[in-house]
Parts: sequence; C-alpha cells; structure tokens
Amino acid sequence: MTDPVRHLLLVLGDQLDADSTLLQQADSQQDRVWMAEVAQEATHVWSHKARITLFLAAMRHFREAIAAQGFAATYHTLESHRKTRLGELLDQDLKQLRPAAVHLVLPGDYRVYQEIREVCEAAGVPLELLTDAHFIDSPEGFADWARGRKQLRLEYYYRVLRRRTGLLMEQDQPAGDKWNFDGDNRKTFGREGPGMLPAPLAFSPDRSTSEVMALVEQRFADHPGDLASFDWPVTREQALEALDDFIRHRLPAFGPYQDALWQDEPWLYHSRLSAALNLKLLSPMEVCRAAEAAWREGQAPLQSVEGFIRQILGWREYVRGLYWYRMPDYLDGNALAAPHDLPAFYWTGETDMHCLAQAIGQTLEYGYAHHIQRLMVTGLYALLFGVRPRAVHEWYLAVYVDAVEWVEAPNTIGMSQFGDGGLMASKPYCATGKYIQRMSNYCGDCRYSPQQRVGDEACPFTTLYWDFLHRNRERLERIPRMNMQLRNLQRIDEAEMRSITATAREHRKRVG
Ligand SMILES: Cc1cc2nc3c(=O)[nH]c(=O)nc-3n(C[C@H](O)[C@H](O)[C@H](O)COP(=O)(O)OP(=O)(O)OC[C@H]3O[C@@H](n4cnc5c(N)ncnc54)[C@H](O)[C@@H]3O)c2cc1C
Ligand code: SF4
Repeated sequence: MTDPVRHLLLVLGDQLDADSTLLQQADSQQDRVWMAEVAQEATHVWSHKARITLFLAAMRHFREAIAAQGFAATYHTLESHRKTRLGELLDQDLKQLRPAAVHLVLPGDYRVYQEIREVCEAAGVPLELLTDAHFIDSPEGFADWARGRKQLRLEYYYRVLRRRTGLLMEQDQPAGDKWNFDGDNRKTFGREGPGMLPAPLAFSPDRSTSEVMALVEQRFADHPGDLASFDWPVTREQALEALDDFIRHRLPAFGPYQDALWQDEPWLYHSRLSAALNLKLLSPMEVCRAAEAAWREGQAPLQSVEGFIRQILGWREYVRGLYWYRMPDYLDGNALAAPHDLPAFYWTGETDMHCLAQAIGQTLEYGYAHHIQRLMVTGLYALLFGVRPRAVHEWYLAVYVDAVEWVEAPNTIGMSQFGDGGLMASKPYCATGKYIQRMSNYCGDCRYSPQQRVGDEACPFTTLYWDFLHRNRERLERIPRMNMQLRNLQRIDEAEMRSITATAREHRKRVG
C-alpha cells in the first residue's frame, strides 16, 4: 500500500525546470511527481525523429535529477504501457492514487491543457494552475498590455520588458541611447563567405539517450528526419555548457550576421539554444543576463547583445503572450484565404530549388534551421505558393527540435503566413528570389535565375511573388506598408502578368 498522495505534480515534456514553482512549493514527503511518455505527442503531427528523441531523452534525464532531489515519481516510459494519450494515463492514475489535488504549470500547448482539465474534472480532482516563473511576463501581463490597442507591435512590448527587467538599461535610458540596432544587423557574408566559423559544442548521446534513439528508430521508423547527427543538450548541465560556448564564441558576431544565409553552414553565429530554452533547461532571464554581462565586460559589442536579447526578451515573450491571448481560434487563421496543400517535397527535401533543398535537407538532418531559413526560405515559399497556414503550421510543429505550439504557431501562422491578418507582423514577409540571392550564396548553384519571372529559368520565388501580389491585391491594398510593392505591381503590363500567372500555374502543377 503506497502512502496517500497530497498533490500530484504534473511535469510535462517541455517543463523540465528543477526551479519551477511546482517543485519549489512542493513537499517531497507528501507530494508526488507525475510524468508520462505518450505516443500521441509524437504522432499528432508527424514528428521528426530528433524532436521525439530530444523530448524523451531530456525527460528521462530530468527524472533522474528530481529523484536525486528526493521526489517520488510516477513515470510512464513509452515501452511500459499501451495507451496513446496523456489523458488516458492520467485518468488511470488519478483513480488509483486519489490525490487531493493536481498541480500544474500552464502547458505549452492549448490542446494538452484542455485534455488535462477535462480528465481532472471528470475524476473530480481539483486542478491548480501554478505561476510559471520561467517566463519574464505572464499571459495576463501580455493581455493587460495588449487590450485596447489597435495594433500590437513587438517594439513597444519589448521596451516595456526592457524597462521592467533593467536589461541593457542605463537608468531609464536604453544602453547606447538606442532601443534597436536592427539597421546594423543585416550584413551578408559577401562573395568571400563566412570563412572559418566556430563550431558549436556537440553532446554525444550517453547510454540513456542512445536507448531512446533506438526506441524512436523502432517505434517511429517511418517518421521524417535522421538521428545520425543528434547532439543536442538534454540536461541542465549540458544546456549551461552550450550557453557558455555561445556567449564566448558566437555572440560577438551574432548581431551583424543574424539575417545571413550560407550554403552548407547550418549554424553560422546562431546560438542553438531554443530547444534547451523551450524544454526549460535554461531560463530566458539567465540567458539574457549572460549576454548582457558579456557586453558589460567588453567581450561582445552592444549591437550583437541587443540583437540577441531582443529575440528572447522581445520575440519569445511576445509570441507566448499572443498565443494565449488568441487561442483557441488562432490556429485556424487564414486571412489570405490560401487554398493549397503543402508540397510533398517539404518532407523529403527533393526539389531543384536549391535554397529549399538546403533548408529542408538541413532540417531533416538536424531538426534545425535558423530563423531566416524558416522565415525567408521555407516560410516565404509556402506563403507565395498559397499553402493553407494550418498545413504549414503542422509541418513546422513536426520538424524542429524546438517546436512547441506556443512559440511555433504565432511564428508560422502569424509572422510567416500572415494568417492572423497582421497581429504578429505589420505586413506579409513577401519577397522575390532576389532577396535570397542578396542574403546567401544559394542561387549560384541553382538552375533558376532570381531575376527572371517568366519562362523555364524563372526563379519560382520571383514568379510566385508577383502572382501572390496580383492574386491578393485587394486584400493587400488595405495594408499601408504594402503600397510600394503594389505600385511596382502596377508597372507590369497585362500581357506580362498573364505570362507570370501561366508560369506560376505551371510551377504549381509540377510541384503539386
Ligand atoms: C515559421 C517559423 C517557425 C518557428 N518555429 C519556432 C519554434 O517552433 N520554436 C522556437 O523556439 N522558435 C521558432 N521560431 C523562431 C526562430 O526561428 C527560432 O527560435 C530560432 O531559429 C532557433 O534557433 P537558435 O536557438 O539558434 O536561435 P538564435 O538565432 O540564436 O536566437 C536566440 C533565441 O531567441 C529566441 N528567438 C529567436 N527568434 C524568435 C522568434 N521569432 N520567436 C520566439 N523566439 C525567438 C529563441 O529562443 C532562440 O534560441 C520560428 C520562426 C519561424 C519564422
Ligand atoms: S534562384 Fe530562386 S529557387 Fe534558386 S536558390 Fe535562388 S531563390 Fe532559391
């Protein structure tokens, strides 16, 4: 007979924070941690093997960490049960353990939160939602800021959080007298390329992670992606090493090159910290403080440190606020009425468009692509092609190791596909192939020409861009920041527009 459980402490796969309120407020003598590996989390979207591996490996390591803290835990491994859903296992254990209450920190996915709520309610066990100390702001804080505003803009929210945290502030003024160094942070590598890049730290899978990899290969054999290169941090200690490695070796050049792309260089000066942050192995505040300290100690320039902190203090908090502000309807946003399915090559990388082959190939190999690849290569193509934002969302949620719905959905549906009609972005991120040509060396090895918009050699991005403006002209006319692009559209005569439409139709037919 086990001791009665006072509080059952639910720890989900993206809540691996030993300092969370859930564990800090708990009494290890009376409360019990509950964790479960379930197939549904790998199959509700067709998850990349590296994404499944990362979550399961990190969960298993976390189980060991909390056992060392003296917590008793009920932990269901994937092999130990035949249930597919988290709710089924929870229901079974609530009946058996009869806790006085279930404690939970807000999940990263609305669907999971609903499921837990329903199970607790049906079992008659009170569910208490605890404050999530990981994030810098709360969903309520964001909603208070957003309510009554005609437009939500990151810049103003970011300044509120800069002031509140004191990050990069000198008294009440921004360090360097500027809130924003974006103008300095759009460099390309030029013809000579990036040269020798500092290789990021790699973490060889230990025994426990290797067991998970074997399990994933067996249970999810037909899932996309590869595990041969799996080297992500899966413990807090490893995550801290990865942070230190980034701050020392890549942060100094992060800012200027944050928008650049280069063939066969997946990491450039990016941090690779998103997965560790989203698992909550790292806290956003400690990451921002580490970057700020590097600037104060003269080890990294302000333009890089501000550029990096803006991503975490700004974008990361902003998208979380927006997600909870707009769910559950957010996922159905399709403001441009895009009708098409996702082209099949997104799952294989087999395409003659070199930039897409690179970005998708790398995604399948590592479960990673950096921001500009996601936004201005795979995202841009889907937007111009007219793929339903929900289908694009399901792909992004499946293929990246850092994908959790609260962060992925606003980035995909809002920022990249303009599905929310302009909540996330003040205008669609649309451009021709010339943008990719300017920011990368992809086009040199491509059979298409970014300058051409009709004919066999026309770059599909360029053709689809003009076709996109033409198809959506009426909707886009309502967006002031689109004026210049629409004026350029007017310069195309009718006959050429017909050729562009025909080339776009031909391309869609071939790809579809
Ligand atoms: C279509 C699309 C889908 C995306 N899906 C995800 C996702 O599922 N999970 C995810 O964490 N990020 C997502 N992003 C944001 C961004 O691309 C990734 O955070 C970044 O590429 C992760 O790599 P990194 O850690 O090397 O980031 P870096 O370039 O080093 O940036 C530093 C950190 O800033 C944060 N960050 C940067 N940009 C954003 C952003 N736009 N929104 C939120 N946080 C940001 C991340 O935590 C990241 O680790 C998406 C972006 C787009 C355009
Ligand atoms: S030419 Fe077009 S399709 Fe080819 S790499 Fe450049 S942007 Fe991509």
